[in-house]
Amino acid sequence: MQLFACPTCGSRLFFDNTTCACGAEVALDPETMVFGLAERPCANRALIQCNWKGEDADGHCRSCRMTEVRPDPSVQEAIDLWAVSESAKRWVLANLGRWGWFTDTDHSKRPIFHMLAEETRTGDTLVIMGHDDGLVTINVNEADPAKRMKRREDLGESLRTMNGHFRHEIAHYFFVILCKRDGFLDEFHRLFGDEEADYSEALEAYYENGAPEDWRDRFISPYSTAHPHEDWAESFAHLLHLTDIVDSFVASGLTGTDLPAADYDAYQEGNIDALIGYGGRLGIALNHVNRSMGLSDLYPFTHTPAIIEKFACIHDWMCQGPPQG
Ligand SMILES: [Zn+2]
Ligand SMILES: [Zn+2]
Ligand SMILES: [Zn+2]
Repeated sequence: MQLFACPTCGSRLFFDNTTCACGAEVALDPETMVFGLAERPCANRALIQCNWKGEDADGHCRSCRMTEVRPDPSVQEAIDLWAVSESAKRWVLANLGRWGWFTDTDHSKRPIFHMLAEETRTGDTLVIMGHDDGLVTINVNEADPAKRMKRREDLGESLRTMNGHFRHEIAHYFFVILCKRDGFLDEFHRLFGDEEADYSEALEAYYENGAPEDWRDRFISPYSTAHPHEDWAESFAHLLHLTDIVDSFVASGLTGTDLPAADYDAYQEGNIDALIGYGGRLGIALNHVNRSMGLSDLYPFTHTPAIIEKFACIHDWMCQGPPQG
């Protein structure tokens, strides 16, 4: 993610800022990725601190417009978790905007989000995250770090974040979009397998038996082994993780030997090996930095050639961006 400047004083702003230290009320225009004064902010600004510019007749921003169902406003805890979840959603949408997706030139049908809380006025309910033909369901309770960590441990995962959830679920949406392009499915079948294999049976088998012992040779995570759709979504999430790590590193003004230069644009990199090389080296370095604070590793994963080939496929298709015109 880039860093930004205050339209009034030029001071540095971060992606989620609503106010500058100089007192200016600011809003981000996701089309230009430039902060302006919050003259016509998103209608959800007061409720969930959405800091994007309002766009539609109701005054909602590009991201909030995609949210069709949100938690009950009378349950404050749910609204707080929804706010954190929407922030992660904006982040991931902004990442994808670097390739042109969800911008004014993208006329594809947008995904719809159901942002659901487990606590409702009438009691607790089960919310299962997932994607179904353009509809993404997100459990906003995962924005609570304690609950997310509990699930991460229950599921034996080495990383579980809201950004990761959005990157994974939106990958399923992009599968539907990219399927319409010539050559996509042939490449998908070669690298990820037959997506028509029975999904429920595959998931059931995965939850019963776990991943095969040698999953690390070809898969980025154990869950990737469950079904070709999940391998696509996990690999897609990781490509976005790595691209954003590299991009955020450059934005922070750091550089070094075998690391990207100050003017490097991770989203314009055509050479996947260079990009993944940078991401991998930064992952190792930042894991070490995290350990200095007793934190868990930032990026606890390794890449084999088979995994990088999947990243390259996703990178090639996503870099093409939406159809123009
Ligand atoms: Zn300022
Ligand atoms: Zn908004
Ligand atoms: Zn999935």
